[in-house]
Amino acid sequence: MRTLIISDVHANLTALQAVLDEADPFDRVWCLGDLVGYGPDPNECIDRIQSLPGLKCIKGNHDAAILGEIDVKSFNYEARASLEWLVTKLSPANKCWLLGLEERLEFDEITLAHGSPRNPVWEYVMELSIARENMSAFDTQICLVGHTHIPCIFKMDGEAADSTHLYLVQPDTPFSLEQKSIVNPGSVGQPRDHNPLASYLIYNDEEDEPWVYHRVAYDIDQVQKRILAAGLPPRHASRLEEGW
Ligand code: ZN
Repeated sequence: MRTLIISDVHANLTALQAVLDEADPFDRVWCLGDLVGYGPDPNECIDRIQSLPGLKCIKGNHDAAILGEIDVKSFNYEARASLEWLVTKLSPANKCWLLGLEERLEFDEITLAHGSPRNPVWEYVMELSIARENMSAFDTQICLVGHTHIPCIFKMDGEAADSTHLYLVQPDTPFSLEQKSIVNPGSVGQPRDHNPLASYLIYNDEEDEPWVYHRVAYDIDQVQKRILAAGLPPRHASRLEEGW
């Protein structure tokens, strides 16, 4: 079974479609939240993601904020501006669909959480110390997280959580994960590792080395124009070409 893993689409339909086109064929999709916020295509992205095969999708902090589950004052000024714009755009049906999403899912050998397994909607697993503290917060071998928009792997090299180390990833290079790991696929719609290409992860359980990262180019200029035309903060447009 070939699984497409995506996160932090952030209402960027052009990046999402580029990922879906390149990743095809896939049997199922795991989406790690933040479908909306920042970008110009919130309803289109939710509609497209809902239509994907075998979908398992969880809620991110931007999704929770638009539902009133997180105080928008906890966001920075520009993220808040896009949330206020989104309130006027999100269709009632899509709002209802977001409301039904879980904050965390656990099945087979996989846990899905947007932020971290112990604090699924809000905590960033960016630092090694935070990753080590989170290793006891999930029972499966793998926990997939998003939220930082940076593709990376925190992997235990021994039995204890303090044996965890950070591994940066190489696109198009298959690998296996025998130890307990927290794995971040990076962001589809707003990468923040100084690489503007949309990021995603494939898990194919029929391969000896089942995991592989990919990056794909998309028409950034077209998305930037739609962001500006929508009246969203200009920095949401400019940061896309810098991958930050
Ligand atoms: Zn995000």
